[in-house]
Amino acid sequence: MSQFQFETLAIHAGQDPEPATGAVTIPIYQTSTFAQHAVGAHRGFDYARTDNPTRTALQECLAALERGSHALTFASGMAAITTLLLYFKQGDHIVVADDVYGGTYRLFQRVFANFGLEFSFVDLTDLDATRRALRAQTRMIWVESPTNPLLKVVDIQALSALARGRGILVGVDNTFASPYLQRPLELGADLSMHSTTKYLGGHSDVVGGALVTNHAALYERLKFLQNAAGAVPAPFDCWLVLRGLKTLALRLERHSQNALEIAQWLEMQPQIARVLYPGLPSHPQHAVARKQMRTPAGAPAYGGMISFIARGGRAMAEKIAAATKIFTLAESLGGVESLIEIPAAMTHLSVADSPLAVDPGLVRLSVGIENVADLQQDLDAALESV
Ligand SMILES: *Cc1c(COP(=O)(O)O)cnc(C)c1O
Repeated sequence: MSQFQFETLAIHAGQDPEPATGAVTIPIYQTSTFAQHAVGAHRGFDYARTDNPTRTALQECLAALERGSHALTFASGMAAITTLLLYFKQGDHIVVADDVYGGTYRLFQRVFANFGLEFSFVDLTDLDATRRALRAQTRMIWVESPTNPLLKVVDIQALSALARGRGILVGVDNTFASPYLQRPLELGADLSMHSTTKYLGGHSDVVGGALVTNHAALYERLKFLQNAAGAVPAPFDCWLVLRGLKTLALRLERHSQNALEIAQWLEMQPQIARVLYPGLPSHPQHAVARKQMRTPAGAPAYGGMISFIARGGRAMAEKIAAATKIFTLAESLGGVESLIEIPAAMTHLSVADSPLAVDPGLVRLSVGIENVADLQQDLDAALESV
């Protein structure tokens, strides 16, 4: 399979027609257990926490898309990160992007810190600051790029070079870019992680997570932990993500086109102080984004997420978010429909009063695949009304 291109793999990897009936679409194997011919002799499946054929198909497809050797899937993005953290032990130190998903910060600081893991939150766009944060006990650098919600872009290749030879893993939360726009393992990272809830599922109808790697020993330990801790996804949820993956390439093309057009337009609006989008030349890491965020065919593209700072702070941001009609006021991202939210009051409430607190006037858009003129008119009307 690996000789095929991304779009082909997204539809076929791990998904040969089912041998017993010829079903073209992977069935939802809604079973908890599997018959054995004799004690211990089975067809590769014994109990569905350990393995399920629908999940196996999804894992093979994700590994192919991320150019990894193995993938593991979980009940949510947070379950994927939780299982990864079970790999470490008391006293281990992890360097973390200072602008991570709020739930990641909460899990690290308010759960795993209680078990003796140590975390340093660092601006990973500053390589010198990152180098200074490393300790003898540092075991991983946890990257998000683009970050949520400030859309900072971290140079994954440079960070991986920094970590190499020091026994430090580089893990990348690749949720915002998706493997269509960014393949961290090809850039030298050891792990790529997803909230499959977002672009991979793509239709705002499933919650899930994934880890992808190309280290066999790391995979074996994580596979053990997936089964030991048991935060596995349901077969139907795996099937929904598989269905989403089939159109990932088409969707990300349109998300990226729509978002670039809207970001350029937003930059000209007087009600807006600043637009954050990796595809804009005004973005501080635009050059890194241009090098790192590329379609499998090599064209730069920057995804569907935009943040902007409204003039007039939180009050104005809330008015804009309440006034749009197509952009639905809701948390989450990466679905076909456009969403708008206020991170300080919604997705990033868990980092309020922490060093990661975000500007109260920040508005985050998940630009969907609707008609771009309709989307622009919706934003225009909302800006005019406030
Ligand atoms: C949503 C999200 C997560 C958490 O994933 P869930 O599926 O909600 O558990 C982690 N990282 C990023 C960047 C996210 O957007």
